[in-house]
Amino acid sequence: MVATAYADRLARARVRMEELDVDALLLSVGPDLPYFTGYEAMPLERLTMLVARRDGDAVLIVPRLEAPRVTEQDDVFTIESWEETDDPIARVAAHTKGVRVVAIGDHTWARFVLALQEALPDTRFTPAARVTGPLRAIKDAAEIEALEAAARAVDGIAVEMRDRSFAGRTEHDVHRELVERMLDAGHQRANFAIVASGPNAASPHHHPGDRVIGEGDVVLCDFGGTMRGYCSDITRMFVVGDPTPEVRDAYDALVVAQEAGVRAAEVGARCEDVDAAARRVLTDAGLGDAFVHRTGHGIGMEAHEDPYVVAGNATPLASGHAFSIEPGVYLPGRFGLRLEDIVVATESGPRRLNDAPRDLAVVG
Ligand code: ZN
Ligand code: ZN
Ligand code: ZN
Repeated sequence: MVATAYADRLARARVRMEELDVDALLLSVGPDLPYFTGYEAMPLERLTMLVARRDGDAVLIVPRLEAPRVTEQDDVFTIESWEETDDPIARVAAHTKGVRVVAIGDHTWARFVLALQEALPDTRFTPAARVTGPLRAIKDAAEIEALEAAARAVDGIAVEMRDRSFAGRTEHDVHRELVERMLDAGHQRANFAIVASGPNAASPHHHPGDRVIGEGDVVLCDFGGTMRGYCSDITRMFVVGDPTPEVRDAYDALVVAQEAGVRAAEVGARCEDVDAAARRVLTDAGLGDAFVHRTGHGIGMEAHEDPYVVAGNATPLASGHAFSIEPGVYLPGRFGLRLEDIVVATESGPRRLNDAPRDLAVVG
């Protein structure tokens, strides 16, 4: 990422701060800081915080021992390092003197927020996501490329898993394999790898355990990680041996629902309409009550971020929005199914970043 891109992002943030009447942006741990600076703060009791004034400079207040990891960028921010005996809260307060409204990063530790509120009694605090969320939601070409590379890496794993045998293994064993494969495929970290078999798949966020996968089980694999700073997230379904007619019918409906969701994701379509398009298919198939979650979530530096594809979200899709389309069918005590791809809204229509086969993969 070149420095001018960071300067552009901060300039756009200042435009939004103007619109929202925010005087300063305070960013600590979490993805907002690297989005604007390329630097990820250590999640420590020692405070790292970017103070970006709307009508002024940006300064990154950083513990002295972390300073060697930061590259100062003159046109974006300067660095002010603090010593072990300094009070970093006082430093931040000094840079926000006279400020009426600050937008503070959503991931900032409560202890720092509380200390800052005490140090700045006349300042109003508002969530930084109001400023940064809409900016981060629209991906530029480099970001889409990073999302695509991450998607391709997990696609490869989804394809390889079709030739693996699942029967006789625990969910946890398959989970470990997925994590290892994500790292081998170039992810800097694995964020999650849900492996849910048989009736366990009816719990959308099942934690993989000691259940041994057996003949006839469906196996839901939903996995993703971070690669070059951007997230992957894919769900594919496997079945050990022949699926029952009930599983097959539900899966057929799910594929149609997912396709309907993807097709509805045109620039200008409202998020809630995309959700409704996928949901309608399952409702018509008599499975509406079994689809217990939203259709999707935005994805970028975070696995879940704006825009959320959910009823009640009237945000219109814009070119560069990246999000999952992941309808599911969950029948408690019996089985669960989900199918998930990452999609980018473009002027020439919705574009899937994942292309691993979407059929119910029959495995041994
Ligand atoms: Zn989820
Ligand atoms: Zn997922
Ligand atoms: Zn997802």
